[in-house]
Amino acid sequence: MARTELLIDGRWVEGGGDEPIAVNSPGSGEHLADVGTASMADVDHAVAAARAAQVELEAMPPFERAALLHATADLLDERAEGLARQLTSEQGKPIATEARGEIEESAEIFRWAAEEVKRLETPVLPGADPQKKVLTFRRANGVYACITPWNFPMNIPAELLAPGLGGGNAVILKPSDLTPLTGAALVEACHDAGFPPGSISLIHGGGDIGAALVGHDGVDAIAFVGSMETADRIVRTAGLKRTLIEASGNGPQIVCDDADLQAAAEAAVYGAEFASGQCCVATERLLVQESVHDELLELVLARARQCRLGDPHDAATTLGPLNNEAVATKMDNHLADATDRGYEVVLGGERAGGFPTDLYYPLTVVDGVGVDGLLFTDESFGPVLPLTTFRDDEEALRLANSSPLGLQASVFTSSLSRSFRYIDGLRAGTVVVNDSTCFWEPHPPFGGASGTKTGWGRIGGKYTLLDMTDLRTAIIDVSNTRG
Ligand code: NAD
Repeated sequence: MARTELLIDGRWVEGGGDEPIAVNSPGSGEHLADVGTASMADVDHAVAAARAAQVELEAMPPFERAALLHATADLLDERAEGLARQLTSEQGKPIATEARGEIEESAEIFRWAAEEVKRLETPVLPGADPQKKVLTFRRANGVYACITPWNFPMNIPAELLAPGLGGGNAVILKPSDLTPLTGAALVEACHDAGFPPGSISLIHGGGDIGAALVGHDGVDAIAFVGSMETADRIVRTAGLKRTLIEASGNGPQIVCDDADLQAAAEAAVYGAEFASGQCCVATERLLVQESVHDELLELVLARARQCRLGDPHDAATTLGPLNNEAVATKMDNHLADATDRGYEVVLGGERAGGFPTDLYYPLTVVDGVGVDGLLFTDESFGPVLPLTTFRDDEEALRLANSSPLGLQASVFTSSLSRSFRYIDGLRAGTVVVNDSTCFWEPHPPFGGASGTKTGWGRIGGKYTLLDMTDLRTAIIDVSNTRG
């Protein structure tokens, strides 16, 4: 049974907010639950409890915190099938190809953090004066507000909670109001694993509650994953508070004339199909060298026709519904703009009928996309592949880098020197060579490139732990000590 309350100071409590959140399944339309929202008094209470608990959590030896992280991972594994079903019902992603994997990976993220916490070594530095010993330590940043989106409602909170708690921070999670049940299930696992009361809290609500946490005097640091627009608001409110910001993407996949075109087509369709394109690293733009355009398009269409749009609980489904009406309307608008500009919709192009809700979109392929179209300039966040041609590497780099969102890019080429031209030239936090923009493993450092509007800080493996802790220094003059 899904938790519908808030977790404050180690107790599940009814939220004091005015309106509960009605959680409806995007796949079936079924009303799943009403979730209580927080009042401002609940926010104050959670923050006060977190401040007290943070001191206790940080005083706990890292090996004990690691054991709690492992215990959380064990509970996620034990509960995996129920959690995957709930995730599919609430979020809409296919159970067989995605939801089970998301739960499994979240448990792995907790295990990874547990092991990293135990190995959080810091240097002892040589000093100019041999009597002065220079030591460094990693300390928690304090009380974190973690504010997360709806597209990976288990994985993204796990990416923040595991290193956050492991590093000795108290964490208050505010999951998206579109997927509150999955976030609640993760907090429940942390609580049941034995994290001290108040060190992990759950607050439900919309942007107003998120903003209240960000601006709260008792919150020391913010970890945010979500849209560029919200990131901008959060950073303005956060002022001098420490922030970890992971925002929107507009991932280009570049296909050069010397590439394995079959592999490139597979990767491109996967990058639009996975999470129904509702992924920060989705293949948002397919840039193809002119001379191989026709061949690549044929291969893309052949692979795209294999996508199985359907009930996300059906094991045969590879493409589920979109999560919500706002993201479906965005797809409608981007495709209307494409048609108005004369681009060619070669596959899909409108919502599919015959399903229990109006949120099912087929895999859509649009050819001849220009640099002014919304499909090119804006993150579509849906299952659409827009094709744009380029003449040479210089033009490909210019097109790819014209977006202010530099998260993850991919390049297909069989040339090592060309690979490095793109690795060096692309303004993206990660460049993937010969795999999808959607390539993902939980441990490499992941995040936006400097100079772009997609955030800062790194998620992944030990890198989140480094971001969520602070390097402190102690200098001891041993000449003034006895013995
Ligand atoms: P969103 O920005 O609308 O919401 C994210 C969270 O912020 C929600 O919990 C929301 O309630 C909260 N929020 C809204 N207004 C707020 C405010 N003023 N102050 C504090 N909190 C506020 O994003 P979304 O629609 O849930 O998620 C989709 C976006 O997230 C896409 O742009 C996607 O690219 C991005 N995303 C990025 C990454 C990454 O790692 N870079 C990963 C996943 C998703």
